[in-house]
Amino acid sequence: MNEYDSNRIYDLTSIIGYNKTYIKKEADCFVLNTCHIRKKATEKVYDEIGRVKKDFKNLKKPLVVVSGCVAQAESNEMLKREPYIDMVIGPQSFHKIGDLILDYQRKKEKINETEFDVVEKFDRLQKIPNLQNKISSYLTVQEGCDKFCHFCVVPYTRGPEYSRSFEQIINEAENLVSNGAREIILLGQNVNAYNYNKKYKLSSLIRKLNNINNLKRIRFTTSHPKDMTKDLIDCYRDCEKLMPFLHLPIQSGSNKVLKLMNRKHDQKYYIAVVEKLKKVNKDIKISSDFIVGYPGETEKDFEDTIELVKKIGFISSYSFIFSPRPGTPAAAKKTNNLEQNEKRLKKLQDVLENFQNENNKKYLQQNCEVLIENKLDNQEKYFGRTKYMTSVIFETDNCKIGELANVKITSFNKKNLFGFYKTNKVEAA
Ligand code: SF4
Repeated sequence: MNEYDSNRIYDLTSIIGYNKTYIKKEADCFVLNTCHIRKKATEKVYDEIGRVKKDFKNLKKPLVVVSGCVAQAESNEMLKREPYIDMVIGPQSFHKIGDLILDYQRKKEKINETEFDVVEKFDRLQKIPNLQNKISSYLTVQEGCDKFCHFCVVPYTRGPEYSRSFEQIINEAENLVSNGAREIILLGQNVNAYNYNKKYKLSSLIRKLNNINNLKRIRFTTSHPKDMTKDLIDCYRDCEKLMPFLHLPIQSGSNKVLKLMNRKHDQKYYIAVVEKLKKVNKDIKISSDFIVGYPGETEKDFEDTIELVKKIGFISSYSFIFSPRPGTPAAAKKTNNLEQNEKRLKKLQDVLENFQNENNKKYLQQNCEVLIENKLDNQEKYFGRTKYMTSVIFETDNCKIGELANVKITSFNKKNLFGFYKTNKVEAA
C-alpha cells in the first residue's frame, strides 16, 4: 500500500511543480513515506533523516516531510525529537501534501497533519490522474481495520475500515489499463472486508474488472480468513482473470495463540476456507504470514504451527519473530526467550522453504505462463511473474512487455525461476 501511496504523493506534488530526481543532492524536498509494520520502523526513519542531514551539511537544507504510519504514530514527537523534520503527514491526510508544502513555504512553520480524513482523501485523489504506468499496478480499494489483532498497529495508524466508492475504483482501474497496466492488484489492509454502501463487495469489483478488455490478471491483498465469504470464493471459479493464488495470513497454527492474538478464527476455520477454495478451483495455492514466539507460545503451540504448514503446503510465506509495537495490547506482555524464538523461526522457515522448493521444482522443463513486466537493465533478459507470483527471469531477443508468454523453465533458485521464451501463444499452466 505504501507503494501505491508513494505514487499518489508524487502525482500530488507534481501538480505544484515538483519532479522526481535520482540525484539525492539535487533534491529540494524529501518525502519519507513510512511503514510501521516492520521492526524498528521509527528508528529507521531517524537514521534516514541523519543521512540526509549529512549529505546536505554544506548545502541548502531541503524540505523534509515524513508521511505514512510512523508519522501517524509519532506525530508531534517527531517534530520535537528531530528539528530537521519540517512536516509530518499521516496516511489519511497525504492528499493535502501540495497545499501543506505551499503553506510551509509561505509561513515557515512546522506542520503536523495527522487527521483521519479518509473520505476527503479519496474524493481528492479521484480528481488527480493516477500516473502509474506499470504493467502490474496497485489500486487501493479499502483502508483501515476493525479487527484489532493484539499485535498490530494498523487499526491505530490507518483508522477504522473504509471502502472507496465502487465507481471511483472502476474508473481508476480503467485509467490504469489505458496507461498500460495488464495486471491490477486490489489493495486494502483488510481488502476482503471491502463493502461499499452495503451493495458492492470485493467480489463485485472482481467481476466488473474481469470484463475490462486488455486487463489480463487480477489479484487482491491482504485478506482476513473471516472475510473469505462464499461470493468471493466463487470468483475463483467464475473469473478467469483472477489468479489462482491467495495470500491468506494465519499467523499461528495454535488455537490458543490465535485466541491470544485476537485473530477471530481458529485453525479449523482456516482449513475449511482453504478447502472451500480448492473445491471451486483445484489449482489454487496459498501463501501466508507467521509470527513466531508470540507471548505465551509454548513448544506445543509452535508444533501446531508446523503441523498446519505441512497440512496446507504454503507455496511462499513471510515469517518473523514477534516484536512488540508500542500501544498494542501484546506490547505489554512478557516476551519469550529470544534464543528459543530464533530456533523456532529457523525450523519454521526450513519447513516453509522446503515447500517452496518443491513447488518451484515442479516447473522444471515445463512451459509456464508469464506476464512480462520489464526488461532487465543492460541485459537481453526479461522479468515477469507466473500466475502464482513467482518471479521468472528469461532470455529472449524478441518479446513484448505486457504480453502473456510461454516460458520454458530450465532452472530455479530460492526466489526465482529461470528459462527461455518460447512463444507468446499461451498454452501453459
Ligand atoms: S486483520 Fe490484519 S490489519 Fe487488521 S488488526 Fe489484524 S493483522 Fe492488523
